[in-house]
Amino acid sequence: MKMKLQATRNRRQFGFTLVEIMVVIAIIGMLMGVATLGISHAIKSSKQNICNMNIEAIEQAKQMWSLENKKGDNDTAGEDDLKVHLKNSVFPTCPSGGTYTINANNVRATCSVHAQTAAATP
Ligand SMILES: [Zn+2]
Repeated sequence: MKMKLQATRNRRQFGFTLVEIMVVIAIIGMLMGVATLGISHAIKSSKQNICNMNIEAIEQAKQMWSLENKKGDNDTAGEDDLKVHLKNSVFPTCPSGGTYTINANNVRATCSVHAQTAAATP
């Protein structure tokens, strides 16, 4: 009885068993998996939001361009036409590497990566 107690004490003094370490590593792995999924979803969501804001800026620039140049609904501006109405005179770029199609004044600009449903501008 005394020897058994002594053996238990000796084993406890050396630290954790392999099974205990594996359980801890498995739990850490699961937590990291959940965190990675959440972060990647947040990154994807914010890229979509930035792209929507860029399209909105393009739409506003299209409206200013058509007002200044007395253009109609079916006229289409070029990137250079819109640059003067955009921040820092730079045409926006999609954070996911998509390209913007400006479209005519009565059709909303679209991104090649982020599917943006075409809705007529008011
Ligand atoms: Zn985009």
